[in-house]
Amino acid sequence: MFAQGGLCFFCSSPLPKDEASVEHLVPIARAGSNSDDNCVACCKTMNGLLGCMSLKEKIRVVLNQKGKFVCPNGAGAVAPATTTPNVSTPSPLPIPKIDNYAVVLADLKKRGTSRPRKVETLKSTIRATVKNAKGTLTEAQLETLFKHLQINGKVTVEGEKVSYSV
Ligand SMILES: [Zn+2]
Repeated sequence: MFAQGGLCFFCSSPLPKDEASVEHLVPIARAGSNSDDNCVACCKTMNGLLGCMSLKEKIRVVLNQKGKFVCPNGAGAVAPATTTPNVSTPSPLPIPKIDNYAVVLADLKKRGTSRPRKVETLKSTIRATVKNAKGTLTEAQLETLFKHLQINGKVTVEGEKVSYSV
């Protein structure tokens, strides 16, 4: 955390200790090491999302954000000028966050064969699911979440149609 200036490795947002987790770039499950070379501190949700992806898949996730990386927890996206760490100000009280991605994925799993078949219906379902779970979701976050579902192979889009592998 000190080496990263108290910021998340991926989204450069201030990272409160209870939001922080250690991400192994090459996952332990893929014979990655525990050394500093292979470890970064980042938002918990991001760590959860990256999971056991290969380094190649992780780079794809990062590149897909086109330089405007926001961890899927909805924090972050702080303008560069305001990201300068200021150690003398206490970090704001952590707001309990809902892991939208996990919530949506669990909902899709639960739906079984009655999952939405069209992109637009799926997006409304995601909005409703997050709302039911008392989470918040901007349109940009919805797009990011939707993209992550695709990157992780949970959702495949063909034209207007979606298929699932949850
Ligand atoms: Zn982050």
